[in-house]
Amino acid sequence: MAESTDPTPSTLAEVHDLLLFDLDGVVYVGEDAVPGAVDAIGRAYDDGRAIGYATNNASRTPQEVAGHLRRLGIAARDEEVTSSSQAAAQLVLERLGAGARVLPVGGPGVRAALLEAGLEPVGPDDQPAAVVQGFGRQLGWSDLADAAAAIRGGALWVATNTDLTLPTERGPAPGNGSLVGAVRNAVDVDPLVAGKPQPTLFHAAAQRAGAHHPLVVGDRLDTDVAGAVNSGMTGALVLTGLTSALALLAAPKGQRPDLVLPDLGALHAPAPSPARTVEGGATCGRARVRLAGARIDGADGSPGPGAPLEDLMDLLRAACAAAWASSGSGAGTTGELAVEPALAAALADLSVRCRREQPSG
Ligand SMILES: [Mg+2]
Repeated sequence: MAESTDPTPSTLAEVHDLLLFDLDGVVYVGEDAVPGAVDAIGRAYDDGRAIGYATNNASRTPQEVAGHLRRLGIAARDEEVTSSSQAAAQLVLERLGAGARVLPVGGPGVRAALLEAGLEPVGPDDQPAAVVQGFGRQLGWSDLADAAAAIRGGALWVATNTDLTLPTERGPAPGNGSLVGAVRNAVDVDPLVAGKPQPTLFHAAAQRAGAHHPLVVGDRLDTDVAGAVNSGMTGALVLTGLTSALALLAAPKGQRPDLVLPDLGALHAPAPSPARTVEGGATCGRARVRLAGARIDGADGSPGPGAPLEDLMDLLRAACAAAWASSGSGAGTTGELAVEPALAAALADLSVRCRREQPSG
């Protein structure tokens, strides 16, 4: 980028050539929009930004996902949605070429993605050269047995994703990763995996948009943020979904986002920039934290519960900068780092407020 003399710093949306959104917990929760998300995405469309949606959910087709977004008031186009079924089909295409015979094991999204990629969906008795396994509500034992037999017969095995659970109204239910595990017990190979946190899904989405510098925006550390890291893309975590501020502090290396945002509205502001202090703490805006041995403390005058949201966000950013630096590069976790109770209370308040007005269980 050229050096600019413009005193107004560029917004996050301006400095990336694709905004690549995870869906559940970022754009919607279940059927309903995350508060503020429709307006924030609408503004990005109005500004002419390139937008994509990347989902590990293999059971719905991109058309169904885009239809859901349009019902919420987001002007999403079908081709902006990339599913893990499409990424799985891409993996098969790269290895076996167009026209390869593939046994689809999953919902309608799997079969549709194979056809779209120029592959041939076939039955278990038609000598499939590959098996693509994704989630489907109607999957039964005989489907899994067919998959196992084909894989033992030499078929390439590609899983759309390996999420062990998926959220339902009644709480977590077995996800595709659990059904992949059932097949794995009957075969001697591991599947290739297309979805997050493997890089294929994000790479496919970026390639379709012709983007070189996407911003991945998600709510999960182990899929969205890890996927951004594995894809070499900038990753932003929003606090509207699954990950709490305190969980973020303990994020292992490889799952630490480049940016921490309260919600999608922050895409229209410049990137916040925490800085380390010489004594091992960190600052961001007016917030300051320090390390006291193996404990992370808010400095005197730190924002507490009830403080303005942006001050609490800066407190979290500073705390993450200090905690992640202190955990070093090798251990993989923040280890024994404790969080001072007042700081923990402020961060807990932040988490609750970022998920405001959402239907909760
Ligand atoms: Mg999500």
